[in-house]
Amino acid sequence: MTKTPIVRTVAALRKKVGAWRKEGKSVALVPTMGSLHEGHLSLVKLARKKADKVIVSIFVNPTQFGAGEDFTTYPRDEKADRDKLSALSIHLIFAPKVTEMYGHGFSSEVSVHGLTEVLCGASRPGHFDGVATVVTKLLLQAAPDIAIFGEKDYQQLLVIRRFVQDLNIPVKIAGGAIVREADGLAMSSRNAYLNSKQRATAPLLNKEMKSAAKKLKVGETSKTVLSQASKNLEKAGFRLDYLEVRHAQTLEAIEGKVTGPARLFAAAFLGKTRLIDNIRI
Ligand code: AMP
Repeated sequence: MTKTPIVRTVAALRKKVGAWRKEGKSVALVPTMGSLHEGHLSLVKLARKKADKVIVSIFVNPTQFGAGEDFTTYPRDEKADRDKLSALSIHLIFAPKVTEMYGHGFSSEVSVHGLTEVLCGASRPGHFDGVATVVTKLLLQAAPDIAIFGEKDYQQLLVIRRFVQDLNIPVKIAGGAIVREADGLAMSSRNAYLNSKQRATAPLLNKEMKSAAKKLKVGETSKTVLSQASKNLEKAGFRLDYLEVRHAQTLEAIEGKVTGPARLFAAAFLGKTRLIDNIRI
């Protein structure tokens, strides 16, 4: 198996992409923070279908972690990641150091209003500014035709679509469906933090969300359904950050019956581990 080459500087990345462009090749980018699982790899496989050349970036972005969050302990395993990507025959890994991304005197930010003020944006102040800024940089650095993001981070996907449109960044944004463990738990690098008892409890989040979504679909009001689901989850040992029904595009709150495109969004702690999930209603 040929090992996928790794570049660590923007200059080396641009050189590679420039050479592909000269050959008339199309380019896809899949941004990640590494510690790759089948969820990430599904996006990589999608990218392989959509473009001639696929770049995966691996960068644990410090600016999207709040004070007291898990930036220092976030799982990192570049060797294992490279093996997984090599097996999929992708063309390039971009794994810059923090100093390459945020040079001396760095003082700019991309900030999206509205969409970032609810859900994870409300509980993690500054998180989406960090995400929007780093994704803007990656899009300008790699200049791909298409960039692919997972619906696991549905709010993030909407935020990215928003600033790409607002800032006229010439790239197509595609979303990939959530990949789950057999028991329904959405795959996440952070699942590695769960102890065995928490791991056994974790799938109840998706199970409860599915059952709530069913009730919402048949016209029960969101207030009643969510209050029951919250009680069940708290009884099972979750500490809820939020459990909300929102419009699938604008993220406006829906408190009565669901009549248009809507999603159910949840963030919940098991111990110190924060799990997120969302499903279409
Ligand atoms: P991360 O490494 O957590 O920043 O995720 C990198 C990309 O993979 C993001 O676009 C995520 O939405 C996506 N992703 C993470 N987990 C999953 C999953 N279980 N299914 C689909 N996409 C995912």
